[in-house]
Amino acid sequence: MPPPVFRFAPSPNGYLHLGHAYSALLNADLARASGGKLLLRIEDIDATRCRPEYEAAIYEDLSWLGIAWEPEVRRQSDHLALYRDAVDRLAARGLVYPAFDSRAEIARLVAAKDATAPWPRDPDGAPLYPGFGKQLDADERAQLMQSGAPYALRLDMDAAIALAGDLAWHERGHGPDGETGTVAARPEAWGDVVIARKETPTSYHLSVVIDDALQGVTEVVRGADLFWSTSVHRLLQTLLDLRAPVYRHHSLLRDAEGRKLSKSTGATGLRELRAAGVGPQEVRRMIGLAAPA
Ligand code: GLU
Repeated sequence: MPPPVFRFAPSPNGYLHLGHAYSALLNADLARASGGKLLLRIEDIDATRCRPEYEAAIYEDLSWLGIAWEPEVRRQSDHLALYRDAVDRLAARGLVYPAFDSRAEIARLVAAKDATAPWPRDPDGAPLYPGFGKQLDADERAQLMQSGAPYALRLDMDAAIALAGDLAWHERGHGPDGETGTVAARPEAWGDVVIARKETPTSYHLSVVIDDALQGVTEVVRGADLFWSTSVHRLLQTLLDLRAPVYRHHSLLRDAEGRKLSKSTGATGLRELRAAGVGPQEVRRMIGLAAPA
């Protein structure tokens, strides 16, 4: 059997904190214990939020933690043409459509619908897409495209599920309600998700499945906040004929008030801890990861 391949895939849109340290060290420990490889991937498709100084800080902070990754780092912004190609393949099968509604229009529509009965939310709590993009005819679409209006390409979820059928994944960790083992995917819970945008020819969901497959990742180890995203990932893997890794979602670290750590949480920032004289072994103790044998 070839050695397992793990990856840590941060977005350079802020400095790393203890939650990232947990995920990165867990990946590194599992890779070491299984004789596997650890890849590093920079998920920087959001040009408005990602910055080179955050990327540089990722390398610095991970090295400080004692983590070693394979020499070739994959940066998603270098591969936009590849993602665009996958979007075209989905579009050729009639599985995506442009939606021109702005965020404000969507919010207004949802508020109006909420007034009669609660509008359905996705697993992250965002309202499912209620807009009319799907109902536009070819002429209306062409006209809007020509006008230069911004748009998002959305997956026609019903059509995609009809093609892909029932899906499941193998979970070595656990979901928010303790789900583990063979987990049935529920992509319908996300509605018509955004697959790409006019200014960015991809999305988190699309690039993550393409890269995991292309890089030969066999074990995805990441935070439980992404547990239900795996439903969309399994669907896209099936539609694009990509191999599925096994998944291990881990609990998220919380602050003293029980809140999820965020990139702006100064007290748990790795740079702040380092400046305060904390060492990498102390970080391991703080996050409850024993030093590897
Ligand atoms: N880039 C994502 C993040 O920083 C993680 C993606 C993943 O592990 O699938 O939250």
